[in-house]
Amino acid sequence: MFEIEINIKNINKIMRAIPGMDTLLFKDWIKDYWIKAIGREPVKEILNQELAALRHDILNNDLDLDNINIEEELKSRCIKKFERAARKNLRRVINATGVVIHTNLGRSLIAQEAIDAMAQAADSYSNLEYDIDSGTRGQRNSLIENLLCSMTGAEAALVVNNNAGAVLLCLSALAKNSDVIVSRGELVEIGGSFRVPDIMAMGGAVLKEVGTTNRTHLFDYENAINENTKIILKVHPSNFRIEGFVTMPERSELAELAHKNNLIFMEDAGSGLLVPGETLNLVGETSVKECLNQGVDLITFSGDKMLGGPQIGVIAGKKDVIAKLRKFPMLRALRVDKSTFAAFEATLRIYMRGELDKIPTLEMIRRDKNLLREQADNLAAKISERINNKARVAVVETNDAVGGGSYPERPLIGWGVAVSCDASVADVKLSAGSLLNLMRENTTPIICGAHENALIIHVRTLLDNDINVIANRLEEIFIGNE
Ligand SMILES: *Cc1c(COP(=O)(O)O)cnc(C)c1O
Repeated sequence: MFEIEINIKNINKIMRAIPGMDTLLFKDWIKDYWIKAIGREPVKEILNQELAALRHDILNNDLDLDNINIEEELKSRCIKKFERAARKNLRRVINATGVVIHTNLGRSLIAQEAIDAMAQAADSYSNLEYDIDSGTRGQRNSLIENLLCSMTGAEAALVVNNNAGAVLLCLSALAKNSDVIVSRGELVEIGGSFRVPDIMAMGGAVLKEVGTTNRTHLFDYENAINENTKIILKVHPSNFRIEGFVTMPERSELAELAHKNNLIFMEDAGSGLLVPGETLNLVGETSVKECLNQGVDLITFSGDKMLGGPQIGVIAGKKDVIAKLRKFPMLRALRVDKSTFAAFEATLRIYMRGELDKIPTLEMIRRDKNLLREQADNLAAKISERINNKARVAVVETNDAVGGGSYPERPLIGWGVAVSCDASVADVKLSAGSLLNLMRENTTPIICGAHENALIIHVRTLLDNDINVIANRLEEIFIGNE
């Protein structure tokens, strides 16, 4: 009884000692530091939560009330929350997956020249929609049209926000309430959110599926044509590959059929190669230029996949068809930002000069195997030096990938470092799963692969300083503060 009374008095005293919000907001560590770092309202919100939690813990007797310093206790509780609130939501991560165009990690990196152009477009006025010669209003699309036409051989071109938008615009402007014929082998879903039948429906077009999953013949297309047909659509089967008993008509055959019937032959090329596939050592991929040469009237593709530029959707092809798109009001809703234009133009200019290795995506896809091996050797040596035999470190061949739904089921052979830790090398056994988590928890998260209970660090997608960050993190994990 007596003891409980003392405790209640103690609790009351401590509760009274908790500073109020107004007092707290004038404490140096809050006023001069955290309010400046994250703003007053977020600070107040966190303080309120933590004050409530602290009161709750005191009343529940969860704390050592005899030795508590209330302000210090509150401070230690708040700092973690403040730090979290100060951390940017969109953060840099290290891509150690070997997947070059990793959609979840932001697809293509942008070439340095394109980054400079983006910054310039952002921090000064520009002729985005201004014709400097005449001093009158200009067209933003005309800024890149000539470059796109010279790279692809197209008569005309325009750009929108992304390739999904490009397909949607084409279908809405050219085939509303009309039939669009697509092979059942090409009814693709990309990353869950782009499905050919859904985009078709959204564009108000009527999907006419023909053929079967593995075989579609020219006569299948021919039989589906009626007076309501407007487009024959070919879709790049971006993220899968059907092997075996497969038939698809040639582009030239589809073009001939379309033109005989006054239809538009359109292709959603997905990634969109501006150079011949062989330049990137990719087998069986057709460049945009070749597609147009084979009779495609209208082609769409992404800017941030294999092209290696910013997020954009390109539409290129016949002048009269593009002219219709230009007049279609939806274009305004899909228009491209000035920084993106700047980055895209700069990227196309690098292509024009033929300096492909200045485009990070192309350089990573093309990188020489011996160079990759050398990088893996370096990384392995650096890691071994730091972790003192606390884990097994080996240089291994890896299956890297182009990614981004480009070039599926054909790995790029690369090199990497395998790190594994079992009872035979260490007291604490760490599964590949735990290692993956620990790498991700780094200040700059490191996203790795795993294979047969080893962590795999693919070197193809690492940037200059990444190997130091990786070695530091592994040292932290295996040596820690011991
Ligand atoms: C990636 C892809 C799309 C979507 O392109 P976004 O640029 O992501 O909008 C559409 N069609 C195909 C065939 C693709 O591969």
